[in-house]
Amino acid sequence: MLRDSFGRPLTSMRISITQRCNFRCRYCHHEGISGASGDEMTPQEIRRIVALGARFGVRKVKLTGGEPLVREDVVEIVDEIARVRGIEDLSMTTNAYYLADLAHELKRAGLDRVNVSLDTLRSDVFSWITRGGKLERVIAGIEAALEAELTPVKINMVVMRGINDGEIHEMLSRFSGSEVVLQLIELVETQGDFFRRYFFDLDELEEELARRAIAVHERRFMHGRRQYQLNGARVEVIKPMHNSRFCAHCTRLRVTHDGKFKPCLMRSDNLVDFLTPMRRGAGDEELERLFLEAVLRREPFFRESGEGKVGNTLDTG
Ligand code: SAM
Ligand code: SF4
Repeated sequence: MLRDSFGRPLTSMRISITQRCNFRCRYCHHEGISGASGDEMTPQEIRRIVALGARFGVRKVKLTGGEPLVREDVVEIVDEIARVRGIEDLSMTTNAYYLADLAHELKRAGLDRVNVSLDTLRSDVFSWITRGGKLERVIAGIEAALEAELTPVKINMVVMRGINDGEIHEMLSRFSGSEVVLQLIELVETQGDFFRRYFFDLDELEEELARRAIAVHERRFMHGRRQYQLNGARVEVIKPMHNSRFCAHCTRLRVTHDGKFKPCLMRSDNLVDFLTPMRRGAGDEELERLFLEAVLRREPFFRESGEGKVGNTLDTG
């Protein structure tokens, strides 16, 4: 298994397969990708880069975007990755708008599970956050995912002050007893004043969960976060900002849709392009060198002091 210069193992890849999206969520950080080209990797190029990662010990792959399901060849992409030896966990994060139609096909192609972004159970609030998204289609997508056994289905709920912070208990009871894990996520700061207006600190809530939990699992390779088991519900709290513990336990390398390794969500000044050389006919040795270069560039953004090295805001264009 590869380790970076800070001793952190590299076991997962988070691959953006497109910048395009059918929603325009007000808080979206676009996976920290800005000013990128509209060029997208082909399914075969994605497979080649996953196979390279697998040779170095990558075991988990998550597909993201933009919205992965807007790619017409998304099933082929899943199928290509699922064939790579060594990949044990293949998942996708999606807004689920197109999931009802695709869940079974994705499962058959080899997708193990999904994360679905759902911040509210109120249609008007949902429409405001996503600028026009339809809540019923997302709920139908979640039901299809459960039926297709893309489980556990993880619901990503970004908690925002005055918008949906009053809905946490309702979300818990809505998904309690099913194959669902509720992930409560603190806002990551982007440019503009959205963060200042809506950031909601989850510390107090996490303390309450810790008191009420009947069991707690620490997930060491998942940014060191804890999963609380309540009566029938499973909850995780994700606090990426100013969290040295989160960064100290980071095990992932990001890949942009246009074929660059991205060592950190919060930075765009240390990318490593592999698609240009790949398209020029680079052999495996050259690609391996680029992969190792990207791993070498990995460093925790938030350290003990709690401050980021090169600024604390994401420039997401
Ligand atoms: N379109 C897909 C979706 O919404 O799941 C995948 C891409 S989206 C960028 C991936 C995840 O990032 C979503 O769960 C979304 O809620 C989360 N996200 C986006 N902007 C965020 C922010 N500023 N703070 C915290 N989470 C954010
Ligand atoms: Fe961003 Fe996902 Fe919302 Fe699209 S659905 S705008 S990628 S958070």
